[in-house]
Amino acid sequence: MADDPPKKPEGPKSPDELKKAFEDFFGKFGNVSLESVGFGERPAGETSSPEASEESEGDKSIREFNLLPRDIKQHLDRFVIRQDDAKKALAIAVCDHYNHARQMRSLEEANNGKLPEGLEYQKQNVMIVGPTGVGKTYLVKHIADLIGVPFVKADATKFSETGYVGGDVDDLVRELVQKADGDVELAEYGIIYLDEVDKLATQSGGMGRDVSGRGVQTTLLKLMEETEVPMTNPYDMRAQMKAMMQMRSGGAGKKDSINTRHILFIVSGAFSGLEKVVQGRMKSGQLGFGAEIKDAVLDGELFREIETKDFVDFGFEAEFVGRLPVRVVCEKLKAEDFVKILNESEGSILRQYEREFEAYGIAAKFQQDAIELIAELAEKEETGARALMTVLEKLLRDFKFELPGTAVTELLIDRELLENREKRLAEFRALGRRIDIDKARDEARQWEKEFHEQHGSRVRLDEMTVQMLAEQGADLGKSVLRLCRTLFKDYQFGIKLIEKNTGRTEFVIEPEAVANPDKYLSGLVVASYRDSHGEE
Ligand code: ADP
Repeated sequence: MADDPPKKPEGPKSPDELKKAFEDFFGKFGNVSLESVGFGERPAGETSSPEASEESEGDKSIREFNLLPRDIKQHLDRFVIRQDDAKKALAIAVCDHYNHARQMRSLEEANNGKLPEGLEYQKQNVMIVGPTGVGKTYLVKHIADLIGVPFVKADATKFSETGYVGGDVDDLVRELVQKADGDVELAEYGIIYLDEVDKLATQSGGMGRDVSGRGVQTTLLKLMEETEVPMTNPYDMRAQMKAMMQMRSGGAGKKDSINTRHILFIVSGAFSGLEKVVQGRMKSGQLGFGAEIKDAVLDGELFREIETKDFVDFGFEAEFVGRLPVRVVCEKLKAEDFVKILNESEGSILRQYEREFEAYGIAAKFQQDAIELIAELAEKEETGARALMTVLEKLLRDFKFELPGTAVTELLIDRELLENREKRLAEFRALGRRIDIDKARDEARQWEKEFHEQHGSRVRLDEMTVQMLAEQGADLGKSVLRLCRTLFKDYQFGIKLIEKNTGRTEFVIEPEAVANPDKYLSGLVVASYRDSHGEE
């Protein structure tokens, strides 16, 4: 029979066959190898450590969660100044959240991996209202660190409803897995922090944000409730292929999605204009009450009056606000708070500056009056505590540039120095030029050694000579070593003569030599002749 038996359609069987089939297919589009799209790499979510699959860190942090709200507040107090309301509210929300997660875990375990039915729980997602740079992120980061869960931060403005343009909100969840080094279980207890959510409000006017803002709210809503986020982004072909290869090569059965049930969401924004919404409502409610509320700031007091309706009037979907039951305000910081941040916070940027100077051997010390000046200047910047960094950088930039490598070993930073930076820098320049006596001594010893090695004679620069050399070196911008090499470059000849005439093997070079080395040496040589004649 000439005919081949009819071929039944057959898919590739082994990963190698599959790889080849893919390469043949993609080969049509140019030079594509599967390595170039990540074939053979581990997909996100799979760690290389064998223990990770046996006991997840996620299990441990949550199973052992036993913090009290006051423990969390105490921890936050070490780093974050003020914001007491926010600290308390966050501490309670976080404890409730992780206690619940822990209880669910043990119930699940006792119930053969299934969640018992009929347990209702509303997640304590948090909304923080407050201006920029007042510690919102700082609070959340320190909470995540303390509990040992991964933490992801993003600006809500970068997301779009579909994920086609801008980012996909699901990516945040996948990012948690990365932050947890691929430990999916730990990622499922992570914290997602979204800043600038106020920009998702639909009344923000005309910028095309309206429709899309509402869409993003709806997508976020799903995440905040409970949903399964696929481990790979459906628009990311590279990731999709990797996942497919993984499944075919026997990785099926591994978790391919992340459940968001226990992920804590914290959102924040400046919400400028919200105070007017609250104010307006309060006024209309106070018919005949008379008292006008003028120029209200959204501080703790006004914030206590906020109702869900105000957020809805501001432009949020009621369901979205409803998923954020814990609401707190972080208040604007003033100069006196900045002083506290600089003096008391464990993360104070002053310590960072001191360490930076220390690295150049300069002991920098901030005086209280300098700290107050920095705080006053920072307050004017209107960017919260972030301004502290900007102000310090501006004030100390020239000192950081000029002092390293000079003889200056101490820098007392007081108000006077910060206000007269040019003058003080000039003084430092003079001082820095003058003398680094230890360095001069080292170099003097080095030259003596060099001289001995090259010419066999032992010479010694006495202490006064070294000092003079150091000063002359500073004036000429030369190191003591270079100066000795030039000044005493022909000394070996004279010294050999003296050795011959007197039998001396050690010579001390005195300060006069620095001003006129040749005259000094000839004086010695002449004297040595006299000595030798005198002995005859
Ligand atoms: P935001 O409120 O915009 O999220 P951040 O929390 O990112 O501001 O603050 C920026 C930096 O300023 C922090 O990393 C921290 O060093 C400092 N900072 C802000 N607020 C405080 C505060 N209340 N106490 C101590 N440091 C703070």
